[in-house]
Amino acid sequence: MISVEEAQKIVLNSGLKPIVKKLPILESLGLNLAEDIISSDDIPIYDNSAMDGYAVRAIDIKGAEKSYPIRLVLTDEVIPAGKIPKSTVNPGFCMPIMTGASLPEGADSVVKKEDTQRDTASIMVFREIEKGENVRYRGEDIKKGNTVFKKGDGINPGTIGVLASLGKSEVKVFGPPVIGVLPTGDELIGISEKLVAGKVRDSNSYSLSAQIKEMGIQYKRFGSAPDDEALLLKKIKEALGECDILLLSGGISAGDYDLVKDTLEGMGAKLNFWKVNQKPGKPLAFFEYGNKYIFALPGNPVSVMVCFEMYVRPMIRKSMGARNLFRPEVMAEALHDFKNKTGRINFIRAIVENKDGQYFFKSTGMQGSGILTSMAKANGIAWFPADIGNVAKGSKVKVYLLGEI
Ligand code: AMP
Ligand code: MG
Repeated sequence: MISVEEAQKIVLNSGLKPIVKKLPILESLGLNLAEDIISSDDIPIYDNSAMDGYAVRAIDIKGAEKSYPIRLVLTDEVIPAGKIPKSTVNPGFCMPIMTGASLPEGADSVVKKEDTQRDTASIMVFREIEKGENVRYRGEDIKKGNTVFKKGDGINPGTIGVLASLGKSEVKVFGPPVIGVLPTGDELIGISEKLVAGKVRDSNSYSLSAQIKEMGIQYKRFGSAPDDEALLLKKIKEALGECDILLLSGGISAGDYDLVKDTLEGMGAKLNFWKVNQKPGKPLAFFEYGNKYIFALPGNPVSVMVCFEMYVRPMIRKSMGARNLFRPEVMAEALHDFKNKTGRINFIRAIVENKDGQYFFKSTGMQGSGILTSMAKANGIAWFPADIGNVAKGSKVKVYLLGEI
């Protein structure tokens, strides 16, 4: 049996190759850049107005105020956005200008419409302005030749807007691997079948698919496999043909009908580890088969989800070029006493609260690995180290945040 840290190291060093692909920018949302983005233009490419108002020379209205307005003569031209002004703003003159329109020659500033009053041929200005006020200068957002984004940067809606303004319709990203989901077990029945003694509706393939979906990536479901070596082998082979990482659930403990390990080894898959010193999820096994990876997750519904969080998700994130492989972690204070066994890492499903910038957590209730509601209620997983023993109210431990607080 190996430790959680050793198991995580093996998984993260497994060498799953990142998949670099070029995608239309809108399809890259949530992924990470696989290239540096260098601007081939100044953005904006021309000095322009940040306001609707009048293009002026700041010096012409120096000293202007409510009680001492200064008059400027209107030029014939008006500059809407998208037009290049033809005339010059001479001393004592001004030119009506709209937001985003190109600053005319001669002018160095824009006075807001609200600070003026217009007659037919002139305006009164009621406020002096600094030279350059309300002007957006060429290259003030992005300079030509600058690296705007770096390889590995996450792509958010703002990134996509910037890429569009740089004229990039496609970008190279680290594409997600395809994840297959195959639950095993003779007792499993479909979601719409009637529950009778001895049978269990397959929930693992749903919670796992949802965890994959939450990462914004594709999953493939392969039905379920019975506890029969020949049929299991057939299903596994079929699934491996269509995915990069296969997630099996069940059949990996020490029971008479736990056939997953023998089946995988029988087909030549390499066992990287079996059994991790943790609760829940002790029977976890990790295999590789050619350039594919297989997680044999324990069957218990909470074990499945916790193992996904602690091993599968970080591995996927690494292959997707993410910098932070794990969920955000905080040190949180226990709101009550926890009974806790030493000798293994215990993952506790927790409800995390933030009060005045301090994090606190409490148990979601019964922590058995079959109590799936304890996972549904959790917005955090507390990490109780192997040597910590009982956790007293007020103690601080590491908690991974699964969702909003
Ligand atoms: P196993 O690891 O196959 O011994 O399964 C451990 C426990 O998890 C048993 O109680 C199973 O019934 C349950 N289980 C296994 N697979 C699933 C599944 N796909 N959905 C819900 N429960 C499952
Ligand atoms: Mg089973």
